[in-house]
Amino acid sequence: MTSSEPEQHPEPPAPEEAAPLRVAVIGSGPAGIYTADALTRQRRVPVRVDVIDRLHTPYGLVRHGVAPDHTKIKGVARALRRILEHPDVTFVGGVDFGSDLTREDLARSHHAVVYATGAGVDRRMEVPGEDLPGSVAATDFVTWYCGHPDSELERFVLDAEEVAVVGAGNVALDVARILAKSAEELRHTDIPQSALDVLAESRVRTVHVLARRGPLQAKFTAPELRDLLDLPGVDVVVPPEQVDIDLAEVGTDRPGLREVARASRTNLGLLRDQAARGVQGRPRRIVFHFWARPERILGTDRVEGLRVEHTRLDEQERLVGTGEHTDLNVGMVLRSVGYAGVPLIGVPFDERGRTVPQEQGRVLDAEGRVVQGDYVAGWIKRGATGVIGTNKSDAAATVRTLLTDADALRAAVPAPVDLVEVLASRGLTASDYEGWLRIDEAEAVHAADLDRGARVKLGGWQAYRKALGDG
Ligand code: NAP
Repeated sequence: MTSSEPEQHPEPPAPEEAAPLRVAVIGSGPAGIYTADALTRQRRVPVRVDVIDRLHTPYGLVRHGVAPDHTKIKGVARALRRILEHPDVTFVGGVDFGSDLTREDLARSHHAVVYATGAGVDRRMEVPGEDLPGSVAATDFVTWYCGHPDSELERFVLDAEEVAVVGAGNVALDVARILAKSAEELRHTDIPQSALDVLAESRVRTVHVLARRGPLQAKFTAPELRDLLDLPGVDVVVPPEQVDIDLAEVGTDRPGLREVARASRTNLGLLRDQAARGVQGRPRRIVFHFWARPERILGTDRVEGLRVEHTRLDEQERLVGTGEHTDLNVGMVLRSVGYAGVPLIGVPFDERGRTVPQEQGRVLDAEGRVVQGDYVAGWIKRGATGVIGTNKSDAAATVRTLLTDADALRAAVPAPVDLVEVLASRGLTASDYEGWLRIDEAEAVHAADLDRGARVKLGGWQAYRKALGDG
């Protein structure tokens, strides 16, 4: 509106009487739901929040990323559930932003859009042989054992005795742990029955975990390392010479030891204790290899081995190869070298960082200008780092910015229409929170039928449609 136009509201309503600010949140993982939480916790600006997800099920990586045996972490879903049940929050499932619904569509129904779509794909190692059958992304393996509906139930056959997991983050430890556990130990988790059956038949006996840097630089955290070291049927092999680091030197100028965090020192202590314990002759083994980076996956028709180059840090603490190699006799390689964001149609994207460019949560275009009405939260904003709780403060920061812009956002969309109307104009009917509760219930019934724990994930889209009463 220009200053010469007549004012339509000579008496602007008091904030509590104002029409709610309509916010669409794309993605119902922790970042998206914590965004809804930060929006509905405050009273200054009335809001209505639609949390839109391409799946019929909420909770993102809490449901399809956290390992099935990490029940304590999965318990965060209870807190997320309370937020989704807030009267000013609506779950809109089965709607894919970009194909089903565009940014232009949402411009009719919402004052602001917050993208909280996470980091949906794996990063690559960029080594020869990476595309051989048997070389897979850990993210594929994770979505398979977490029962993501996109994952093919028959995706994995675990017929190799030795496998390699590349990377020293928490995902690598999750994957190594699931591969090393017996099916019996996973029976009372929510792992899909088809995945449990494959794990029961698994021939895997040795899991090599490869870290391209040393134990002090590993990204995994102590609780996850402890989980691995405590596995009853598994010998964890830690080469003593690789953890023989003088802790008194931590914080000195020696390469690799500058600014070593307390967490790294805890990891080192745990690894040293394990190295001292040695092996007990248990049925399965997890073998740590520090200072080992993949150079080439060996094999012609499928993975037959992995060549690693030994590494060290130079005087500038850059990672360099030593020229020495070891070939591991593995039949499968799982790359677990981090997640990357996926571009969203009509939304700026930084290919290098694999994130949406932003400042204080406001999306920026290629020229660095603010894109009016567009915001970002979570991994698609800051990259795939941090634990679930990190998304809470991250989302709150974005919401603070968004609320600062509330007046301008309202002025730009004076008469928003209902999202249901917009979806109908595209020939779509979304699933809702009640639909999710039906899936939830079907998973509890499935668990009871199988005489397994409280819930067993349904596998595949068809099973969801059936639970929703659509198929
Ligand atoms: P991450 O923590 O970033 O770890 C990635 C690992 O891959 C690092 O060790 C990295 O080594 C290595 N790497 C990267 N590029 C490589 C290459 N080309 N060759 C060999 N190694 C390479 O990623 P993540 O494990 O996927 O985890 C993502 C996030 O989710 C993290 O914040 C993690 O803590 C979180 N998460 C948490 C839990 C939990 O709390 N239980 C579980 C799963 C995930 P450099 O350090 O040398 O780059």
